[in-house]
Amino acid sequence: MSTTTVGNPLKNYIGGQWVESATNRYEDIPNPATGELLSRVPLSTKEDVDKAVQAAKEAFIGWSATPVADRARIMFRFHSLLTQHQDELAEMITRENGKNFPEAQAELLRGIEMVEFACGMPTLMMGETLPNIAANIDGQVLRFPLGVVAGITPFNFPVMVPMWMYPIAITAGNTFVLKPSERTPVSSIRIAELLKEAGLPDGVFNVVNGAHDVVNGLLEHPDVKAISFVGSQPVAEYIYKTAATYGKRVQALAGAKNHHLVMPDSDLRRAAKTIVSSAFGCAGERCMAASAVVAVEEIADQLVQYLVEESNALKMGNGLEQGVDLGPVIRDTHLSKVHDYIEKGVAAGADLVRDGREDAKDMPDGYFLGPTIFDKADAEMVIVRDEIFAPVLSVMRVKDFEQGLETISRSRFGNGATIYTNNGKWGREFVQRVEAGMVGVNVGVPAPMGFFAFSGWKESFYGDLHANGKDGVLFYTKKKTVTSRWFEDGDTSIGSQKVFVK
Ligand code: NAD
Repeated sequence: MSTTTVGNPLKNYIGGQWVESATNRYEDIPNPATGELLSRVPLSTKEDVDKAVQAAKEAFIGWSATPVADRARIMFRFHSLLTQHQDELAEMITRENGKNFPEAQAELLRGIEMVEFACGMPTLMMGETLPNIAANIDGQVLRFPLGVVAGITPFNFPVMVPMWMYPIAITAGNTFVLKPSERTPVSSIRIAELLKEAGLPDGVFNVVNGAHDVVNGLLEHPDVKAISFVGSQPVAEYIYKTAATYGKRVQALAGAKNHHLVMPDSDLRRAAKTIVSSAFGCAGERCMAASAVVAVEEIADQLVQYLVEESNALKMGNGLEQGVDLGPVIRDTHLSKVHDYIEKGVAAGADLVRDGREDAKDMPDGYFLGPTIFDKADAEMVIVRDEIFAPVLSVMRVKDFEQGLETISRSRFGNGATIYTNNGKWGREFVQRVEAGMVGVNVGVPAPMGFFAFSGWKESFYGDLHANGKDGVLFYTKKKTVTSRWFEDGDTSIGSQKVFVK
């Protein structure tokens, strides 16, 4: 990893300077494919948070007064730097996260999409005007940035998920403090360098590395006006409740269990390929990964056979090697938890038709698990109720569409759901009735493009305004409604007479 500031241990980026944390606590950052130590991350303190928030608060004065078109121009330059450094950034993602290089490139492209969206801020931030709402009186709504806002992000998309936040936030005139995942903090350092190179003034974007103490420092800080969080469900719920206690605006995107309903009229081979790619891409560590299949009984045997065949064709290994489909999971501790889930699935009576532990036997260095498939699972089993966040897929069998929909509705999560069908009636019914915020019809990962909201439901989201799209702009701005009246020279009246409708 060759950059100027990716050192060991990592530093924080505060007010445009690389500064050491006040902490004496650090965590190792291993490459999950090899176990090789990449760097160490400081578990920064609340004092470090305060310094970053103070720097962001000072920068807000000048930045919020900078014309929005000038702010957008810096985003254009940042966009061009991201494009120039695509491969370098993708390689960083693969090294720290484990996903394969093409997946890392795709992650970056989805992030760049958000930068493109933010470049439209002069239009996106426009208010509303209605002249002459009464005699000589005009009404208008103006949009203003909030102040210092913070982002707390997960390990699984170290570049893209922060890009759901800071491009919109800062182009709208806010200043930003990022707390990246302590498990994948390296690429954020390079991002900070590129933002500086793009001409972003010091203090507008800051990075404080660490874990719980940094999160709590941000939640409690009186000068942080809004919190964007993406991560697991229990933490999202905690963030939502705590941020609200401290009077902050909050959006908290949480965990998922995405169900894929396969109808008998679908093209089963194509459905199986799509499900395998969705379930096992990024080692299943995607909040939009297929993790539960609901198959109508009459085609279930055939579908499961295809799922196993397609999975057998995947190549597992270090994501920097050519042709690797499936990388490792993030940590050895996570892998142990996933092994426990596999044991629990077997104990509960599900059929383990493909055991990915076998594939990993010859790979002692990284944290690998091959594609793992359970058949004949049911909605009450822990392997279906919980998000496992690994290449583990559970198939449930149902009688028909109605029972399929009912099975999906029993999940406490509602991030994504997909139907495979060639029948428009089922497709339409599914879109209308399924309890999930992001729905696919014959699409394995229905993650919306950045100009739409990322709109999870149920326990997959806490808050009101979602990330991305117009919701993102609304989240990072506040409205001011102005009613104004101007008098002509010599007019001594105090205003218009009341008019009663007869
Ligand atoms: P995580 O919840 O462990 O960590 C997310 C962030 O919260 C990290 O920055 C971490 O330092 C912090 N954190 C963790 N525990 C905390 C605690 N007790 N108190 C305060 N802060 C804490 O999540 P993860 O394992 O890094 O990421 C995977 C999870 O993220 C999965 O559940 C996945 O579904 C979810 N995710 C959701 C979306 C979405 O759009 N809904 C997108 C990506 C990931």
